[in-house]
Amino acid sequence: MSKKTALITGITGQDGAYLAQLLLDKDYRVFGLTPRRSTSDVNLKRLESLGIVRNITLIDGDLGDLSSLIRAVQMAQPDEVYNLGAQSFVQASWQQPLLTGQITGLGAAHLLESLRIAKPDARFYQASTSEMYGLVQEPIQSEATPFYPRSPYAVAKLYAHWMTVNYRESFGLFACSGILFNHESPLRGLEFVTRKVTDGVARIKLGLEKELRLGNIDAKRDWGHARDYVQAMWLMLQQKEAEDFVIATGRTTSVRDMCRIAFDVAGLSMEEHLVIDPELFRPAEVDILLGNPAKAKAKLGWEPRVSLEEMISEMYYTDLERLKTSAQAHSPVQEQA
Ligand code: NDP
Ligand code: GDP
Repeated sequence: MSKKTALITGITGQDGAYLAQLLLDKDYRVFGLTPRRSTSDVNLKRLESLGIVRNITLIDGDLGDLSSLIRAVQMAQPDEVYNLGAQSFVQASWQQPLLTGQITGLGAAHLLESLRIAKPDARFYQASTSEMYGLVQEPIQSEATPFYPRSPYAVAKLYAHWMTVNYRESFGLFACSGILFNHESPLRGLEFVTRKVTDGVARIKLGLEKELRLGNIDAKRDWGHARDYVQAMWLMLQQKEAEDFVIATGRTTSVRDMCRIAFDVAGLSMEEHLVIDPELFRPAEVDILLGNPAKAKAKLGWEPRVSLEEMISEMYYTDLERLKTSAQAHSPVQEQA
């Protein structure tokens, strides 16, 4: 049987890197869309850290540019397309609401259009989010729970979600929306709260910082590990029929308690170092998210494997090692050597 081919947008992000690794392990040919940035080398860091950058074919393109997407699809001729590219940070979406709409929302429509035009038999995965539940309408959110987005990011993602459903129903595209709850890892962006915490606690441990500043620590999230979650994306595209799935752990934890796990792992007192900064509160908050992954378990055979404690510990120790290494690299002794 000939190799399967996948095209991933957002391949330089956290999920893109882990998904590319998973697909390469399954012997796929992997193409990744990369938008133009002034520092082209920096964006490959995650792929480099997994040691897979040489095994991927990168294609220049941007979710805001339909013509580049059509060309990317024509070039890759993908069996599967994973749309992970986005302006993905909720907080930034209040500062850049229109860009978020154009890339996170309309970008998905561009990609669906490019498939409709150039490769209608390709299978399509849309990276939807639990943020779409926002002001939650049910205590535990499933595929049947109504949405109530609370940020420009969530509004944009909701448009992309419904376009995915609509292209499936209108044109028969094999298009799936994966409604993924928060998922983290050592490759998570430093601006997201788990990574900000593990990096911040590691800095305090090494004496590089004295305090960690956070906003609303009463918010609760259902946190899983990104490596587990990319497995679910792939499984969705292997089914007989295209459907939407919630991917979650079924456990919710406050930012406060997640933060305490990190301080405990480091053997430090949270009370001594944590500072609440009102500037970091959001214009509208998503107070609590808790997903029900029963459908994914029943139909995909998917279950989360990594606990929050294991994940925070992994992230903390990875940050600690990275910071130690970079401190050594910048020490006067090293500079002379
Ligand atoms: P990241 O922020 O780590 O990655 C986003 C990716 O999108 C990067 O590769 C980025 O490229 C790329 N990108 C940004 N703008 C454009 C553009 N104009 N054209 C093409 N690509 C672009 O996100 P994650 O890996 O964490 O998440 C993957 C997807 O899943 C995102 O869509 C996110 O919104 C969604 N999601 C994530 C969840 C999570 O908890 N992680 C939960 C639910 C959904 P560059 O590196 O050059 O900036
Ligand atoms: P989100 O769920 O996609 O918005 O993921 P984040 O990791 O950015 O935020 C998760 C929760 O942590 C939200 O409710 C934030 O308000 C809360 N939070 C509290 N302090 C901070 C902070 O300093 N940075 C971030 N990113 N979030 C914070």
